Amino acid sequence: MITPRDPAPSSVETVIPGRFVALLYHDVHPGNAFDYGRLGESATMYHVSEPVFRAHLDIIDNAGVQCLDDDAIRACLAGRGKAGAAGLVLCFDDGWNGAVERAAPLLAERHLPAFFFITTGLVGRRFFAGAAALRRLDPLLFTVGSHGVTHRMLSGLRSDDIRAELCDSRRALEDLLGRPVACLSVPGGAVSRRVVEIAEEAGYTSLFTSAIGINPMPGGYRCIARIGVRRGTDPTTLQRWVSGDLRRERVRAALLAVPKRMLGARVYSKLRRVLLGEAFGREHFFEP
Ligand SMILES: [Zn+2]
Repeated sequence: MITPRDPAPSSVETVIPGRFVALLYHDVHPGNAFDYGRLGESATMYHVSEPVFRAHLDIIDNAGVQCLDDDAIRACLAGRGKAGAAGLVLCFDDGWNGAVERAAPLLAERHLPAFFFITTGLVGRRFFAGAAALRRLDPLLFTVGSHGVTHRMLSGLRSDDIRAELCDSRRALEDLLGRPVACLSVPGGAVSRRVVEIAEEAGYTSLFTSAIGINPMPGGYRCIARIGVRRGTDPTTLQRWVSGDLRRERVRAALLAVPKRMLGARVYSKLRRVLLGEAFGREHFFEP
């Protein structure tokens, strides 16, 4: 008698964790030293080499932690997760070439889902992934979201400009990929109540920020906390984050909150100068 084929993976009950830590990566470059030309340290300090990234994936594998995709995050944030060990979410901001061309194949080999947040004005620029590479990202494994058009800090913009950043980038990605885009990573973590409201009007149903903490945060899908991985993040620290312990970073973030608020405007004006400089034909600069 012919028996039905082996049960498909979807028939296996997947337990959604009740909480998760999200790691935020930027570029993954080849070799140990990579020449980013005149790109500033403020951007490259968030870039890791491919050997380091492979070591991070080993840490994640060895921890036996579950990496969550878009559906799993939504289930967790809707309260359908089970208590127990924290899950993990992997994010890549800005659309760096190495994230799309180097990290994504390594993730696919291990069947690890991830999120890629693309600044649409940078697609195809030096150091950034092109349209064809973005289309090659496997939609069954990878979620592509918006990271604005120009990477301007949204909280400092007029409402019309916020709307343009969020609507135009979403439309550009949907045209490029031929599927809906509903996730937003707020550039520079510059979120405000107005940014959240406009993002919801624009059709985004999950907002990834740079708040530090274990999700779900009190803001739920409106404030998905992420911890930024840096070139200097050592294996022990990463292991601790993967295990769901961010206590040290939460204390640090609380202490830094005030000077950061005061610095916000200055950092923003620097970014503006950089973008204006580029418009006059200087080599491309970028701040994450
Ligand atoms: Zn960014």
